[in-house]
Amino acid sequence: MNSLLPPLHNIFVSQLPADPNTVNNSRSIEHAAYSLVAPTPTKTSTIICCNNELASQLGFTEAALTSLAFAELITGNNIQPEIQSYAMNYGGHQFGQWAGQLGDGRAINLGQYLLNDKYVTLQLKGAGQTPYSRHADGMAVLRSSIREYLCSEAMYHLGIPTTRALTLSLTGEEVIRDKLYDGQAAYEPCAIVARVSPSFLRFGSIQLPSSRGDISLLKQTVEYSIRNDFPELIENAEHIDKSVYLNWFNRICERTAYLIVEWMRVGFVHGVLNTDNMSLIGETIDYGPYGWIDNFDLNWTPNTSDAAEKRYRFGQQAYIGQWNLFQLANAIYPLIDEAKPLQDILNNYNQVYQQQWLTMMRSKLGISNATECKEQHSHLTETDLSLCQDLEKILSLVSTDMTLFYRSLAKLDGEVDVTNYATLNSHFSECFYDKNTVDSIYLSKLSEWLLRYQQRLTLSDMTKSYRVQLMNATNPCYILRNFQVQEAIELAESGDFSRVLLLAELLKKPYQQQTKYQQFEIKRPDWATNKFGCSALSCSS
Ligand code: AMP
Ligand code: MG
Repeated sequence: MNSLLPPLHNIFVSQLPADPNTVNNSRSIEHAAYSLVAPTPTKTSTIICCNNELASQLGFTEAALTSLAFAELITGNNIQPEIQSYAMNYGGHQFGQWAGQLGDGRAINLGQYLLNDKYVTLQLKGAGQTPYSRHADGMAVLRSSIREYLCSEAMYHLGIPTTRALTLSLTGEEVIRDKLYDGQAAYEPCAIVARVSPSFLRFGSIQLPSSRGDISLLKQTVEYSIRNDFPELIENAEHIDKSVYLNWFNRICERTAYLIVEWMRVGFVHGVLNTDNMSLIGETIDYGPYGWIDNFDLNWTPNTSDAAEKRYRFGQQAYIGQWNLFQLANAIYPLIDEAKPLQDILNNYNQVYQQQWLTMMRSKLGISNATECKEQHSHLTETDLSLCQDLEKILSLVSTDMTLFYRSLAKLDGEVDVTNYATLNSHFSECFYDKNTVDSIYLSKLSEWLLRYQQRLTLSDMTKSYRVQLMNATNPCYILRNFQVQEAIELAESGDFSRVLLLAELLKKPYQQQTKYQQFEIKRPDWATNKFGCSALSCSS
């Protein structure tokens, strides 16, 4: 044991059935939740980013963080005998089709740390082949690892549930990738993101045993999730029965609805909402070809593999969440044996989503905070709903930067004359991508909407300064803009990691305007409109 590093516990492997075969070759694995497998040793262990706050919460001292033992741990080269590293077995629906067994093809879990009296798992993404790698190499390239590190931390600091990133490291290896899917494959540097979550179980972890009729593993996995991640559901229960399973499913539906509302708040598009990328605890997981909304567009998808169907487009995420939950309901049906209670919970998802969405939009507009929403007279629900929905229509009329628009709205004085088009045009001018499209017809619609908005503000008890505070705590000043992460990647690929570190720092305070980072408070520049990485991405990673 390395006494400098906090101890890892083997909670997952000790509570769920293992694959008895420990040979590391690709195969179908039944009756097992995981396979024991060691990370592939790497040439180097060069840490680029280390999340010191998270590391310290996990029990790493400063001395530990600068030690070789730590660098080797998070690149999979320091696997002490007490560590039982493993890859998880799961399946999933990919783009609407059942894909069968998938599993951790390049992620290897080292075990659990205690974080505030709860266990969290440390997982290395890009740590080499596992029995679930199929024909792939088990590696992750630098560009996709930078995207995961920065985006998961940006998400965390925005206050949105997510897996977290502990470190980003270079392994000294290279692999071939065809990143544009255009036949121009090239070598790229490999990296490992060490990520942390209370649970890496996915909807697909429940679906796989169910699809195989393996009721025993299905039940064990569901009960593991309940015991470890939803212990409040069994506090007063004698044993885990059908009602607990239903409460568990209901919680997952609620968390999923809440998560997607949060994505809509900041303009995040996950890009690959397959059921193997849906966390059972409602965290954002598996950062692939995700994107952030620059110009508000409900039809936008960042994923080139989804360009035709746009299944995972911005405005369809709530529906896809429910579609995925429907698959999860099917998977647990053998434990419930009745369709009606599952159907009722699925229907309730819509209501929960709508309510949460309205509460979120009211905060974005500064018309009422969450507490007021609960007390608000129901006659305002209809008024507010149409106010919010109509704003989405206005934002789509001309190409409008979503992030800049909401921050500008907070700056608009409640008493300003919004019937004056020149005033409007100059107040919002930075938000428009093409100023030529901002004509009098558009301005009349914006003006009409703002009049209704001002009217609505008069019905609220909030002071002006409280409203602005609420809006600025709901509408980020900085998001991880697609072109900004791409610029950081290009610099990193030439050996300069300063921009990656700078973005990591800047995004720790996304709601607070930071004078020294003013140059990042801008909309997408023209050169980035159709550039790969800035406008769209492939799944190549
Ligand atoms: P993703 O699209 O990253 O969520 O991955 C879907 C499935 O493909 C998961 O089972 C991954 O583990 C697997 N996978 C993706 N990339 C690789 C890779 N380079 N090597 C092995 N498996 C991979
Ligand atoms: Mg995945």
